Amino acid sequence: MNILERYDAMEYGPAPESRSEADRWLAARDLAASLFINGDWVKPASGKTFETREPASGKLLATLGEAGAADIDAAVAAARKALPKWQALSGYERARHLYAIGRAMQRHARLFAVLESLDNGKPIRESRDIDVPLAIRHFIHHAGWAQALDKEFPGHKAAGVAGQIIPWNFPLLMLGWKIAPALAAGCTVVLKPAEFTPLTAILFAEICARVGLPKGVVNIVQGGPEAGAAIVDHADIDKIAFTGSSEVGKIIRKATAGTGKKLSLELGGKSAFIVFEDADLDSAVEGLVDGIWFNQGQVCCAGSRLLVQEGIADRFVEKVKARMGKLRLGDPLDKNTDIGPLVDRTQLERVRRLVAQGASEGAICWQPDCAVPTEGHYHLPVLATNLAPANVLAQEEVFGPVLAAMTFRTTDEAVSIANNTRYGLAASIWSENINLALDAAPKLKAGVVWINGTNMFDAACGFGGYRESGFGREGGREGLAEYLVAPMAKSADLAPAKPVEPTSAADGVGIDRTAKLYIGGKQVRPDGAYSMPVTGAKGRLAGEVGIGSRKDIRDAVSAAHAAKGWAAATGYNRAQVLYFFAENLDARAGEFAARITDLTGASARASRAEVDLSVERLFALAGLADKYEGRVHQPPARAVTLALHEPVGVIGVVASDDQPLLGLISLIAPALTMGNSVVAVPSARHALVATDLYQVMETSDLPAGAVNIVTGPARDLAKVLAMHDDVDGLWVVADKDTCRTAEAESVGNLKRVWTSNGKSVDWSVQPHDLLLPRAVEVKNVWVPYGD
Ligand code: NAD
Repeated sequence: MNILERYDAMEYGPAPESRSEADRWLAARDLAASLFINGDWVKPASGKTFETREPASGKLLATLGEAGAADIDAAVAAARKALPKWQALSGYERARHLYAIGRAMQRHARLFAVLESLDNGKPIRESRDIDVPLAIRHFIHHAGWAQALDKEFPGHKAAGVAGQIIPWNFPLLMLGWKIAPALAAGCTVVLKPAEFTPLTAILFAEICARVGLPKGVVNIVQGGPEAGAAIVDHADIDKIAFTGSSEVGKIIRKATAGTGKKLSLELGGKSAFIVFEDADLDSAVEGLVDGIWFNQGQVCCAGSRLLVQEGIADRFVEKVKARMGKLRLGDPLDKNTDIGPLVDRTQLERVRRLVAQGASEGAICWQPDCAVPTEGHYHLPVLATNLAPANVLAQEEVFGPVLAAMTFRTTDEAVSIANNTRYGLAASIWSENINLALDAAPKLKAGVVWINGTNMFDAACGFGGYRESGFGREGGREGLAEYLVAPMAKSADLAPAKPVEPTSAADGVGIDRTAKLYIGGKQVRPDGAYSMPVTGAKGRLAGEVGIGSRKDIRDAVSAAHAAKGWAAATGYNRAQVLYFFAENLDARAGEFAARITDLTGASARASRAEVDLSVERLFALAGLADKYEGRVHQPPARAVTLALHEPVGVIGVVASDDQPLLGLISLIAPALTMGNSVVAVPSARHALVATDLYQVMETSDLPAGAVNIVTGPARDLAKVLAMHDDVDGLWVVADKDTCRTAEAESVGNLKRVWTSNGKSVDWSVQPHDLLLPRAVEVKNVWVPYGD
């Protein structure tokens, strides 16, 4: 046997990490008292307990107290009590606390890693080298944010008490992603780990106590869905941050509708891993191993759909199979283990069921001939080919070690297959042609895109998705903003709008002067052929406008989608159109002011001021079209991260009766500035102000469909917009019930909803850039460099 043959024949010896420290840690605690509330370790009021077991063996690790509603009440009360003092600390003082937590975590890094691998089943290499260091980095990174807050977010306030619910796949890391920005922002927290993986949060809480974090600033409660729901429904919580399945995310969206709670949702994914024929195939194979088999595929951003260009498909798949044959399944504490057990028997059964269903739908499910441990929830890696687009393995998030492989011919086809999913979390692009990769990245509907890499994360770079992958970002500036409230002037409650009394076309005499709807750049009659009267301030009939219906909204949304050129236009180009819009409005300022006075009874001076401010606002936002740009992050890796600002898509806006022109312009203009197209429902009472705008827009070079206006009852039309799955965002200034309905009905596609929560908004004092952050999705494109 020569040296090479000997080398090839060499077997791995076991290289286990010791678990003795973790066992001692477990044995030394009464985990029935595992709720950390107001700095004390307490048992649940009900005395209920639950077990956490080792996925590798099924053996009992610990029995823990399970929080019920009374315990959640106590935790929220502690967080509320601690809030004023925590907020009163200087940024510097809060930074010192965050830094102290990070340093103490570093000292206990190994114990964290071993506990995490025991509790979750993930290979120690991953918990040691990825989960734990990244969690620590979040605390140290956010220490700086605590001090930078006043300068970087002037006038913003902490959201208040944050309720945070996390999943089991990255227990400590998800805790870090949640708690670090919350504390930096000045929030206090009640966090609930997932019921399968409660342990590292307990060690974390001990560290909080040890470093002298004030009591009640961090509270950790344990339990399952019931405890989670008690947090979501708690009336004294100001902000809910949830990471978990899209299914539960939707339940939470509905439950928080109309409560005024701030909400961020980090949900599931079905991310594409796209390999072009000019890719470095061996690197791409290694990337794929990380992309889909990292943490047994129980990763929200797992590259679970392999899209490979046809010319190299066979060769690439052979390489993948050869590599799969070398993956080692085994003890998570063994440093040679690539694939550990799934977290629980229920998860193993779910994966088996989905694989069987995929096979029954025609997929060929290939598995390597690897040794599988006889105990524990292990599942061999799977490569599924021969997939129809509708196959369950191509569509559903399996959350297990299952790769669905498909082919494509052209870049356009790759993009279209990649986007053929209700999710939009992440994507990987592999190509040696950086121009090609950077051209494809913005076309992918995903919050994170890795070029020639995968699973790169950093505390400074936002992470989060589009569509049913949720909304909000974690990490960096955007992540911090999720725990802050922008300054809003105090304002009065809006009363529900009076129901409109339809008149039909036949009711009128003489020439019909009913103002039509404005859809796709044309004035069109409402589908229902009904109109409503618009009365002036003195009770005289000022005119009639059409009553838009579900069908009209549908047409308007289609027209808005067809106006793709607006999103693709350069910022400079959009700026010029908006300047022109402003100029044309200015030219007819007198006419608009007279109309406002006629309809609202405002003084001539006040109406003129409203028009002038509308023109000024259009100018200001036109000027930002080429300035409200993304950033470049420099994470501690050989990569740059381009945080691009992309339009959200089609945004529905619903304006109130107050300031009928300024209110409408203040909603439409920021959306347009960032390249969104708009379906607007103007004030019903003063709708003629909006219909007068048609001619201004027609003469302003706004492309057809970029703005569509549907007049009618705000409440009904807001609901239709909320339920429409091709509307990507919705901004509503209306009474409380309309705002609640808009949020509750948005669950279909989890569109981004902003409402005034029943209040009126005084647009004359509200800064013009209030809604700009809502007008963009921040896409983080990771571009590694070096050989
Ligand atoms: P899950 O939604 O079942 O549970 C997540 C958490 O929510 C757990 O703590 C659970 O106890 C709690 N919960 C369950 N029902 C609840 C309810 N009705 N009200 C309130 N809380 C409730 O998800 P999971 O199975 O634990 O985690 C896997 C999911 O998490 C996957 O879909 C994955 O993609 C997603 N995930 C997303 C991200 C991200 O950043 N986008 C990160 C990790 C995991």
